[in-house]
Amino acid sequence: MTTEVSTVCPSANHKEAEAVLFGVVGGTPEKPELAYLDKIQPITNDILAMAGSVDPTEVFRFAAPCAKSGCQHFNEQQSSCQLASKVVQLLPVVVKKLAPCAIRSQCRWWQQEAVAACQRCPQVVTLNYAPSQAMRAAATV
Ligand code: SF4
Repeated sequence: MTTEVSTVCPSANHKEAEAVLFGVVGGTPEKPELAYLDKIQPITNDILAMAGSVDPTEVFRFAAPCAKSGCQHFNEQQSSCQLASKVVQLLPVVVKKLAPCAIRSQCRWWQQEAVAACQRCPQVVTLNYAPSQAMRAAATV
């Protein structure tokens, strides 16, 4: 991810160009809770190896430049991320006080949904094999 201000997706795949690491998934499978890193980190083989046998997107959160019309969640007419909208509409608030987030100024969800997105963001796991009903509905295109 370049240092110039561009809009990034906060639920990206680590294989995307310019992807960076910004959080580590903690909590439990039923109640995931993201720990936000103080600074974004480049994705290295050592970091990917820490995921062990699972996909890195199950245990880390990555940010990468928003793909806009190249993404299934992007609504071209409204120029908005439908995933961000649905996260806010369907998921419960899990934090009242926002965690410091290293990508906030560039985050698509923040730019679009502001505080409401950040209050729900810590429960989001990019690749989730056991999503709650609300999470499954939010991720469905
Ligand atoms: S929604 Fe908020 S907390 Fe989540 S990545 Fe974006 S700025 Fe950070």
